[in-house]
Amino acid sequence: MADRLRVCALYPNLMNIYADRGNLLLLRRRCEWRGIGFELTASDLGEPLDPDAADLFYIGGGQDRDQRLCAFDLAEVKREGLHAAAARGAALLAVCGGYQLLGSSYQLGEETLPGVGLVDLETVRSDGERLIGNIAIEVDLGPLAGGTRVLAGFENHGGRTHLGPAAQPLGRVLKGHGNNGEDGREGIREGNVIGTYMHGPLLPKNAWLADWLIATALGREEPLAPLDDTFEAAAHVEARRAAGA
Ligand code: GLN
Repeated sequence: MADRLRVCALYPNLMNIYADRGNLLLLRRRCEWRGIGFELTASDLGEPLDPDAADLFYIGGGQDRDQRLCAFDLAEVKREGLHAAAARGAALLAVCGGYQLLGSSYQLGEETLPGVGLVDLETVRSDGERLIGNIAIEVDLGPLAGGTRVLAGFENHGGRTHLGPAAQPLGRVLKGHGNNGEDGREGIREGNVIGTYMHGPLLPKNAWLADWLIATALGREEPLAPLDDTFEAAAHVEARRAAGA
């Protein structure tokens, strides 16, 4: 059983709004507090991705302009590596702008950015209002996550995402907008690949998801040893309260 979590952050400088990088800090701390090693590497523009070099891949959110650079790089330089990583069961967490690039395309007015084609979704930038605010969703990631749980956080996106017919959302919207403000679905989950509109500090507000990601990425069959989560529990309760759930 591996006792070291290897995380690879994609485009850590371009795709990092709303402190999405804080998610990586929390992963590091929760590993270290349990005596699990933690190694963080980055894969930037122009760098191919080695599918075996990490157990967990991470993409944060980004502005349309930065997303454009990353979209072409993902589709042209990293596509093969990322598909191979997902196929061998590596975990992937993609937030907002990163999430929008996981599917087939992101249509921005006249221009259609390519997606990396890992999951079945497409996103269209709407001229309508941005979908902004606190959000809470109900999620069931199975026994490793302890059954049905709540994720609470913050969303801010102009894009509207629609899942393909067989794709499963990450969760059901309790409060907030979710993928498109219409169908009550939020994010996507396919195996160990997770996409969500919920920004940093997503993991600090929902430490249970961090633990699920660590356990899944390490191939554990049992949940990780519990920690003293007094502060994390308070952050979670506050995020739920802010969302009204
Ligand atoms: N640019 C994307 C949108 O507005 C994503 C923004 C973000 O990551 N917050 O839809």
